[in-house]
Amino acid sequence: MNTQHTWHDLVRLRLPQASDDECDYVLWNQTCFPFGGAQRVWHQVRLHAYARSVGAMQCELCGRIMDMTESAHPKWPVCRSCDEALRPPEES
Ligand SMILES: [Zn+2]
Repeated sequence: MNTQHTWHDLVRLRLPQASDDECDYVLWNQTCFPFGGAQRVWHQVRLHAYARSVGAMQCELCGRIMDMTESAHPKWPVCRSCDEALRPPEES
């Protein structure tokens, strides 16, 4: 689909090695895509590329750049405050 190629090209401006799957991942998880318009998505792509270039992770929910040690889940990059917000209240 043409539209998708354009979005992938946008991601690859900053992450030239990204595969189609990776581009989709970045778009859907690290940006407001498909909402918010190209400028906002582009801003978030640059933020994500910066986070990767310095070896940091980015919270999938709020987009905050965090320290590697800060993620509550090794396979699911979510910052502590988002993780706490998602955690069900403890049963008593
Ligand atoms: Zn977060």
